[in-house]
Amino acid sequence: MPLPGQLEPRGPEPGRYGYAILGAGCAGLSLCHYLLERGVEEPILILDRKGAFADDRTWCFWDVEQTPFSGRAVRRWSSWAVRAEGREIVHTSGRYPYLCLTGADFYEDALEKISAHDNVTVRLGEDVRSAKELDDGVLVVTSAGSYLAENVFDARGLPPDSTVLQEARRGGTWISQQFLGLRLRANRPVFDPDTCTLMDFSVDQGRGLRFAYVLPFDGREALVENVYLTETGAPPEAHRHELADYLRGRYGLLEGDYEVHGEEWGEIPMTAHRFPRRIGARTHVIGTLGGETRPSTGYTFLRVQRYCRALAAGLTGAGGAPETVHPWRYGPLDRVFLRLLRERPESCPGIYARMFAGTPPDPLVRFLTERSTLPDDARLIGALPKLPFLRMAAGEAIDYAREDL
Ligand SMILES: Cc1cc2nc3c(=O)[nH]c(=O)nc-3n(C[C@H](O)[C@H](O)[C@H](O)COP(=O)(O)OP(=O)(O)OC[C@H]3O[C@@H](n4cnc5c(N)ncnc54)[C@H](O)[C@@H]3O)c2cc1C
Repeated sequence: MPLPGQLEPRGPEPGRYGYAILGAGCAGLSLCHYLLERGVEEPILILDRKGAFADDRTWCFWDVEQTPFSGRAVRRWSSWAVRAEGREIVHTSGRYPYLCLTGADFYEDALEKISAHDNVTVRLGEDVRSAKELDDGVLVVTSAGSYLAENVFDARGLPPDSTVLQEARRGGTWISQQFLGLRLRANRPVFDPDTCTLMDFSVDQGRGLRFAYVLPFDGREALVENVYLTETGAPPEAHRHELADYLRGRYGLLEGDYEVHGEEWGEIPMTAHRFPRRIGARTHVIGTLGGETRPSTGYTFLRVQRYCRALAAGLTGAGGAPETVHPWRYGPLDRVFLRLLRERPESCPGIYARMFAGTPPDPLVRFLTERSTLPDDARLIGALPKLPFLRMAAGEAIDYAREDL
């Protein structure tokens, strides 16, 4: 995907940028958009080590609030299903559809919005090596040069080999949401285009907690993912075999019955580790590197939008501390859920089935997107089995007390 010409480096390099954003992914581009929306006119520099933007992921999230990018969603499902323990629970909500935004559409939309302003430069192919706070700004050193900026936003994500992630793994409860998805077209209509499958636990659980995720674009086309919620996951070849089994078992599709147009691989760390949001007076950390992934679900996109919007407002004098956009009360339940996923994975398919069956769709979506009311929370907690959660909560409390000693 080409970079709009207006964003290419041009003219003399400014002696100092107002803002430097390290990483042109979801958080970096979103923050840039929100800063511009707030009227920022100082020069903004975005640096990324990738050479080009690619259609490298598919974002899904519930449409509980407007985001600048939701209009580009390629698909909206009002019904979604969870399959576990021999039953299928299908929920329908006209109020909160589940949206799907392709990586290509997000990058194109964000770059288009940003390029409408003439104060942004994007430099691709530059690996950021360091960002050091000096008296008069932050010195950012890359593989190609160095830049001075008044404020820096580190949005370099959390790749599996990152040192920050290794530290998070040592420091607390975590699991990895590892998945491989196939973008495929079947030779006959087999998918129900009106209902996406959020979690299908009817697959073999021998290698650890695993489910299939199906986003049907029409009767023939779908993104079908094989997802592990474990410490180690599985090699790509095992994912491909398991997907072939799933397509055969659920849809009767043999390997010659569909064409694969692309693959999507991801590892989303789910952890209760507290990532620093700020390093020094001028350096902010945003996106997954700032701990934006919800520990119990892996959903990140909406949280990134909320935080970046609030941060831009705060920096331009129109808002308070951005941390308050994520209500604290979800934290303890997230930690307990995460612990259950790690320590009692065999109980989780049944627990998800009870949670989905016992909670009406709108309160459930509000809970999953951290927008629930107290009565919503009470309904959801009422649907969950109490004993396993109490055991996990006790474990959390003991660990918490130990950390304080
Ligand atoms: C395949 C996939 C699918 C996902 N689907 C969903 C979903 O459906 N819903 C949801 O809510 N969340 C989803 N997520 C989780 C999350 O929303 C994404 O990971 C999101 O892209 C995180 O945004 P980010 O800006 O933190 O990181 P990224 O978008 O990964 O951006 C980081 C950027 O930093 C650059 N970078 C890294 N190191 C350097 C360096 N040293 N120098 C310069 N640049 C560097 C990278 O090239 C990259 O462009 C998904 C994640 C993946 C991987």
